[in-house]
Amino acid sequence: MPTTPSLRFDNAFVTRLPGDPETGRHVRAVEGALWSPVAPEPVAAPRMLAWSADMAGRLGLDPAWMSSAAAAEVLAGNRLLEGMAPFASNYGGHQFGHWAGQLGDGRAIGLGEVLDPGGHRWELQLKGAGSTPYSRSADGRAVLRSSLREFLCSEAMHHLGVPTTRALSLVGTGEPVVRDMFYDGHPAPEPGAVVCRVAPSFIRFGHFELPASRGDVDLLRTLVDFCIARDFPHLHGTGEALLGDWFGEVCERTAVMVAHWMRVGFVHGVMNTDNMSILGLTIDYGPYGWIDDFDPDWTPNTTDRQHRRYRFGQQPQVAYWNLSRLAGALSPLFGGHEALQAGLRRFVEAYGAADRGNTAAKLGLSACRDEDVDLMQALRDLLKAGEVDMTLFFRQLADIDPDAPSLDGFDDAFYDASRRASVEGALGEWLRTYAARVAGDPLPAEHRKALMDAANPQYVLRNYLAQEAIDLAHGGDMSRTEALLALLSHPYDAQPGREGFARRRPDWARDRAGCSMLSCSS
Ligand code: AMP
Ligand code: MG
Repeated sequence: MPTTPSLRFDNAFVTRLPGDPETGRHVRAVEGALWSPVAPEPVAAPRMLAWSADMAGRLGLDPAWMSSAAAAEVLAGNRLLEGMAPFASNYGGHQFGHWAGQLGDGRAIGLGEVLDPGGHRWELQLKGAGSTPYSRSADGRAVLRSSLREFLCSEAMHHLGVPTTRALSLVGTGEPVVRDMFYDGHPAPEPGAVVCRVAPSFIRFGHFELPASRGDVDLLRTLVDFCIARDFPHLHGTGEALLGDWFGEVCERTAVMVAHWMRVGFVHGVMNTDNMSILGLTIDYGPYGWIDDFDPDWTPNTTDRQHRRYRFGQQPQVAYWNLSRLAGALSPLFGGHEALQAGLRRFVEAYGAADRGNTAAKLGLSACRDEDVDLMQALRDLLKAGEVDMTLFFRQLADIDPDAPSLDGFDDAFYDASRRASVEGALGEWLRTYAARVAGDPLPAEHRKALMDAANPQYVLRNYLAQEAIDLAHGGDMSRTEALLALLSHPYDAQPGREGFARRRPDWARDRAGCSMLSCSS
């Protein structure tokens, strides 16, 4: 019998911030408080389906315990460990451009904040563990397909070097959850699951927006002071200068995060302000997707099909818009607008710098000159016009011969012969320009390849790969999920024998639900 882990809990959020005096799960408006006490609702038959050895290791959790029935019980929410103090937090948000009022953790339940052996803080949060005062008309549960997608993608993003919340575990509940996946009047039962998410902080932009929207400046100030002290302990100073530094850092972190998304081809899908982390972490994996053929207008989210507000190419602008909403919420704490405007400028500068860094790294250049920005834009236009796979193209680019550039070796990156034919001439011309640029760059060839391979992953969680893992998991087979978790722990390595997972999207997945189109139903 593995021993029960003794984790060091320091539950700052619930001990230092005002909580809801009311108890129970009944749905309610919660004013003057940032959280409500609520325990997970036990499930029928918890079974550990997958767990992250990397995350468990960071927390100091014994692998033997993670594989035990006891761990499944705890990570489904059936049993609490000593020191856990479960709660749901209270936030609002702008959804698809409109203020939505109070939202809150409708199906996320915080278990507490662990201090790991290295002294780092990790909040544990169960997603899908039952209803809370913020569940509104929904059930507080989550289905296996969306939970598996969140579990795998969190860990994949982490190993890609993209700031993200993490995932410790994926537990099957043994209970069905009814969902109308296509919102077409055909609800059906699906297997339920709970993911244990992990992050230093789950504070969102919407946590600040809600008290601000209610004119509760005291609560807003309390939360800001708490967030700076707990989540930004490296910031010093006092008064408005400190607040300005903090907001500026939030802007910078958000810029860096989005620049990473653009580098690897990740589309969040639902960049509402309640899904924006104050630490600049990718959070709330819902109908997200990965770019196969390069298309800045693509969004995986069918709910957003009409306006495509959250399409791939728009993500930097949306992040800025979201930060502007945060600035608006924080404005009662500032005497004027200068510091907030300076923060927003920091976003623009940081994004510009990160984007240039991405251009240099993805093209293998020692630095990004002004003309390289145009070179990259010209390439993007060609990749779109030619329906070229983003991941395969950039990975292959490191292997061209600058003395004899050609499209040989790029065959796998094309989806359509006639689209290929339409750009072949221009793309060949682009390659010659690029080869000349590379030849004149001081970076030695072997450094160039290393730089490019570290910026252009070989393996990403393509939408069809996740869907195949889900189909197998529905039949009780977790082997593909395991294989993907291992594969995506080293996304920049060639991994001989696993090249099949780098293949472009197969034709069957082009228009299949779950692969190219995802609803918010989860
Ligand atoms: P999301 O679209 O996942 O960011 O969720 C928006 C809001 O809806 C948040 O307040 C969630 O907690 C809530 N929510 C989403 N799904 C559920 C569910 N199944 N049960 C309760 N609340 C939910
Ligand atoms: Mg959300």
